[in-house]
Amino acid sequence: MYRTHNCGELRMTHVGQEVTLSGWLQASRDFGSMTFIDMRDRYGITQLVFNIEDDEGLCAEARKLGREFVLRISGVVRERSNKNENRATGDVEIVVKSLEILNASKTPPFTIDDETDGGDEIRMKYRYLDLRRNPIQQNIIFRSKLAIETRKYLADQNFVEVETPCLIKSTPEGARDFVVPSRMNAGQFYALPQSPQTFKQLLMVAGLDKYFQIVKCFRDEDLRADRQPEFTQIDCEMSFVTQEDILNTFEGLTRYLFNTTIGIELGDFPRMSYDDALRLYGSDKPDLRIGMEFVELNDVAKGKGFPVFDSAELVVGICASGEAANFSNKDIKKLTEWMQRPQIGAKGLVYVKVEAGGFKSPVGKFYSDEDLTKWVEKFGAKEGDILFILSGEEEKTRKQLSELRLEMGKRMGLMKEGDFKPLWVLDFPLLEWDEDSNRFHAMHHPFTAPKKDDVSRMLNGDHETMKSLRADAYDLVINGSEIGGGSIRIHDRELQSKNFDLLGFTKEEAEAQFGFLMGAFEFGAPPHGGIAFGFDRLCAVMSGQSSIRDFIAFPKNNTGRDIMIDAPSTIDNTQLDELSLKLEEESSAAKE
Ligand code: ASP
Repeated sequence: MYRTHNCGELRMTHVGQEVTLSGWLQASRDFGSMTFIDMRDRYGITQLVFNIEDDEGLCAEARKLGREFVLRISGVVRERSNKNENRATGDVEIVVKSLEILNASKTPPFTIDDETDGGDEIRMKYRYLDLRRNPIQQNIIFRSKLAIETRKYLADQNFVEVETPCLIKSTPEGARDFVVPSRMNAGQFYALPQSPQTFKQLLMVAGLDKYFQIVKCFRDEDLRADRQPEFTQIDCEMSFVTQEDILNTFEGLTRYLFNTTIGIELGDFPRMSYDDALRLYGSDKPDLRIGMEFVELNDVAKGKGFPVFDSAELVVGICASGEAANFSNKDIKKLTEWMQRPQIGAKGLVYVKVEAGGFKSPVGKFYSDEDLTKWVEKFGAKEGDILFILSGEEEKTRKQLSELRLEMGKRMGLMKEGDFKPLWVLDFPLLEWDEDSNRFHAMHHPFTAPKKDDVSRMLNGDHETMKSLRADAYDLVINGSEIGGGSIRIHDRELQSKNFDLLGFTKEEAEAQFGFLMGAFEFGAPPHGGIAFGFDRLCAVMSGQSSIRDFIAFPKNNTGRDIMIDAPSTIDNTQLDELSLKLEEESSAAKE
């Protein structure tokens, strides 16, 4: 028998019992007459004692053991004389009677402890050792809990879990496809799914009614911080539903997950239109922990002789309030420089300090106290507050102010751990005009339906009309992270075909790529809609962490490589040949 208990289990109630434990050697301390060993497994750490007076041979053996050796020991539980309150098993220790080395270990390349001395690369290379560390292991266990609870909730709501294929044809979600060459169909390729979108819609046509899947998706995107080329979604689709039904179902799921896994009551989620989100926060995923809504000042700041504002399309600001807003002139100078970095590109930052009996501002000479009082009223600012104001071209200025707002949130300590602010962002535009490529892109994806009231405008309207179409498309945002997104879908061939047309597909291209879907719509497709949650991100956000990587057992690094198994890698010529991928020159060289 390898064990009677695990390493996190023994308490005072076990004192006197003979036990057997197996685990890894976390640390050992040798005091000459006594040797202590901390033995670790997934459940915790238990202290072992070897006493020279009890068994000299055994003690000598224990001294020779190295870190990460795998051991089985038997012994008797006793109360510790000097207890460790920070450890669940800290009241007891085991006086070891027998010891067996189950496996030796080389010295690990980094410390396997909560805090480690290992850099990113080395920990990725030895991911199986990094995964032995408690914080990472807890993340993976948390992920498992979340998946299990998700299944419970959705199963309770009558959802059916269906697996959709990985070897498919392109499903566009705005990224490039990973492709897989087919050996049996020379010169042809499968694409890995960017999402199961078309399949889940076909499952609705098939009458499955409520589908879900915790599913891998693959997107070949340019490198961006904290993206993974393969990631996991909680993917869902429902028939005979309105947007309201979907929001309620998935708000319910989110509340349930927060409640059962981290004991947080989220309450009702506020809702905001996409337009309002941009107007009030300059972002379609605002972090509502911060507050600081944008206030527009065009009517009170322009026309007073300050040329920068006079020539601006938009003058807009935020108000930093409370004690944390005690910014010295030096702080403000630093903040201005931060805003002027090329990543943000603000020309300058105007501030107004609201002080007892007056204002302090570098633009003071253009504005009387009376003028500035009007500004302050708009913000509802009070003594001690500071207004930060940007100006320029509308869209750019809002984006810059959004960055400033987030930075202020950080500096003022407003993004508190354990504080969760969910938000539904609704009414996204259906299409987005792209100046560079001179064509429309689907804001969500090409299967998203326009709002009912916009259908006839979509079918009959002119080019400009298309820019104003709205969709029943929604995002769930928590603390500024996009957790999920979805939409009501088109379920009608004519409208779907019109959408492909607007997105720049020729009839032939649309037919070749999505004929199967449009064909299915002709066989009694029910009205349907759905949503997908980014599962890795949900894990990270719920745990108050910023990186999704630590919630993925075997992640890729930021150049898309798995440096542990060394993938991607080249393949040999025989394999290339089998896949009909042998380079032309090589094949002709071979013939000669
Ligand atoms: N397929 C979409 C996505 O991956 C989600 C959805 O519309 O249900 O973002």
